[in-house]
Amino acid sequence: MTQANRISSKAAQFTESVIRDMTRQAIRFGAINLAQGFPDFAAPEEIKRAAQEAIAADINQYAVTWGAKNLREAIARKLQTWQGLAIDPETEVTVCCGSTEAMIASLMAVLDPGEEVVVFEPFYENYGPDAVLSGATPRFVTLHPPRGPEGEWSFDPAELRAAFNRRTRAIILNTPNNPTGKVFTRAELEQIRDLCLEFDVLAITDEIYEHIIFDGARHISIATIDGMRDRTITINGMSKTYSVTGWRVGWAVAPPVLTGAIRKVHDFLTVGAAAPLQAAGVTALSMPESYYQSLAENYRQRRDRMLAALFQAGFRAYSPRGAYYIMTDVTSFGFADDLAFVQYLVREAGVAAVPGSSFYKSSAGRQQVRFVFCKQDATLDAAGVRLQKLAVKANR
Ligand code: PLP
Repeated sequence: MTQANRISSKAAQFTESVIRDMTRQAIRFGAINLAQGFPDFAAPEEIKRAAQEAIAADINQYAVTWGAKNLREAIARKLQTWQGLAIDPETEVTVCCGSTEAMIASLMAVLDPGEEVVVFEPFYENYGPDAVLSGATPRFVTLHPPRGPEGEWSFDPAELRAAFNRRTRAIILNTPNNPTGKVFTRAELEQIRDLCLEFDVLAITDEIYEHIIFDGARHISIATIDGMRDRTITINGMSKTYSVTGWRVGWAVAPPVLTGAIRKVHDFLTVGAAAPLQAAGVTALSMPESYYQSLAENYRQRRDRMLAALFQAGFRAYSPRGAYYIMTDVTSFGFADDLAFVQYLVREAGVAAVPGSSFYKSSAGRQQVRFVFCKQDATLDAAGVRLQKLAVKANR
């Protein structure tokens, strides 16, 4: 048997993450990394101190597999305060190794081979392999780019409906959305709810950018929409809200029977998230409202700074309403495709970005490129200077 024949058919169906590969290329070519979504600024002092104190206090052994009780209680309190959602921390919360694990554990807990899961495209690249690993088939529904500078990414309700059938078990939602920055409105969530009820489907919603939101947009959890409380798995985590992407603490909130299944999968996948970092999570989730306000305001300023740099370099960019990414259209630069564009960018200009095609199953992303703006002003400014090379190229 050749080594290639030893690879499972599941593992053979997807490639390594393009986003994480771009980070490795950024290191290799000494480029500024605007590819992967992690901050290059410090995490809040009080949260770091809480982690240090937890280690010093010897919270160094396995936590309860589905999460330390005080963290599950803090998650329940926060959902009550911010979303008005009453949940039972004893039976409805599973703490995982990041929302990444919460998503795959949830999908493995509720999907069987032959079933389908609806995914909006462009999508956060993990959802494709997640569906494959859980044995299900993803069905993609296009989010169409805005027509004008003030427009929104939107789906066609008829296209969404056409993706549902009797094999559909779940829809994956991500709001605020990576990579588009779309924040789903109540009306859109109600359209999704109507289909979930009609086809008896679960919503699995990734809300890790809930506090990174601009221009008066409001984050609405689909679990709070009438009829969805008992058919929603809500996924969130510490990574983005508290600037600790390396800590790997996330969670899934779901009705008790679903939680029972998620906890079993989670236990055998990873046993549990790091105990001292869960302890620090209690401090994080108890931050005052002002913390979240300044988080959003600081990100709005970074968004505007990055948008200005991109416009100056000749990009067509879609202004995001939430999350910390900007999708751009690079047609005007005249490269063969997005891959050629990002290779030029990382090697010649010294900026790493993500080719749009990695967010699509279809060919729609071939002239799109995604930049992050979760970086210090100095990093964004330095990238802006390097991107000017493109303006020169475009004007040639
Ligand atoms: N979900 C989305 C939409 C993301 O963009 C990311 C990271 O970029 C993640 C999940 C990963 O989150 P975590 O660090 O909690 O695993």
